[in-house]
Amino acid sequence: MPDLDNATADTLFDVVVVGGGPAGLTAATYLRRFHRSCLVLDAGDSRARWIPESNNCPGFPQGVSGVELLRRMREQAAGFDTRFEAARVEQIEHDDDGFVLHGKDSAWCARCVILATGLSDKLPDAPWVEEAVACGAMRLCSVCDAYEASDSRIGVYGPSADIAAHGLFLRSYSRHVFLLPTDAGDVKNLREAKDAGVRILAFGGRLDFDGKQCAYIAADGSGTAFDSVYPFMGSHTSAGIAAAVGAALSETGEILVDAQQMTNVPGLFAIGDVVSGLNQISVAVGQAAIAATCAHRRLPFVPRP
Ligand SMILES: Cc1cc2nc3c(=O)[nH]c(=O)nc-3n(C[C@H](O)[C@H](O)[C@H](O)COP(=O)(O)OP(=O)(O)OC[C@H]3O[C@@H](n4cnc5c(N)ncnc54)[C@H](O)[C@@H]3O)c2cc1C
Repeated sequence: MPDLDNATADTLFDVVVVGGGPAGLTAATYLRRFHRSCLVLDAGDSRARWIPESNNCPGFPQGVSGVELLRRMREQAAGFDTRFEAARVEQIEHDDDGFVLHGKDSAWCARCVILATGLSDKLPDAPWVEEAVACGAMRLCSVCDAYEASDSRIGVYGPSADIAAHGLFLRSYSRHVFLLPTDAGDVKNLREAKDAGVRILAFGGRLDFDGKQCAYIAADGSGTAFDSVYPFMGSHTSAGIAAAVGAALSETGEILVDAQQMTNVPGLFAIGDVVSGLNQISVAVGQAAIAATCAHRRLPFVPRP
């Protein structure tokens, strides 16, 4: 159980933020500007690192890469003396006084915890995937960047149960949309997609990448090239540590929160992709502002000396 009475200023924080992506870094900036002690524990694998160039991120009319955005957000949080440690939190304990977070070799205590641990995309099992994402031949988020694929040839790769809905969404960007099913099941909503002009290629092919474009190689060896392929294969949640400390999850594995971003565990907040149905930077930073402000209000009042 937490032993907050014996914790030192070095290991006891008003708030520990778990995750150093856009959500966690924004929360840290807010907390430090509330004069709260704050530690960010980060495993260093933000989904934002994959963004070659974001063009819907507020304040960047010329676009910004994910790596540069993270660098700036971290610099901003560091500018207010946020503490950072590179660590993966493996377990969280909780009682009425607060939380103890356990890493591999260390432990930290906190009055409140903000989980900003994100998610990771399930991707095709190929060594070229990172290179294809970096050049836009493969795209992972249609809300983020389908605009950039407007009027181009778009492939939608994924389970037959899901791809038609994604294909229909993308049809409002281009009339050249092809479904590339990864299994032989019935494609849900196929009639609706076909009526909208979405085409479907036979199941049984594989994706290839020539350094510039992805192609769908059919079972007979023939290839169909695309300007962009969107794999929609689901994601790995990072909500396990929240569930283990008693936080309720949705059926799809997202952490459930109230309007203050707090879970059903008092003092445990969750923000960003690990929570949201709309996995966007603007949503993550908005949730961070709400959670940080609510955590600040929850903590004991400290008059300025
Ligand atoms: C290719 C691509 C393009 C995108 N383009 C855009 C775009 O243009 N616009 C937009 O709004 N969004 C875009 N997104 C989505 C955007 O990247 C995410 O919505 C955003 O990164 C979510 O931020 P987050 O802080 O919630 O999670 P993340 O950025 O994923 O950060 C989570 C952090 O928590 C850490 N972590 C996880 N578990 C633990 C643990 N147990 N202990 C310690 N640390 C942990 C991870 O290592 C990571 O550093 C894109 C995503 C991808 C993949």
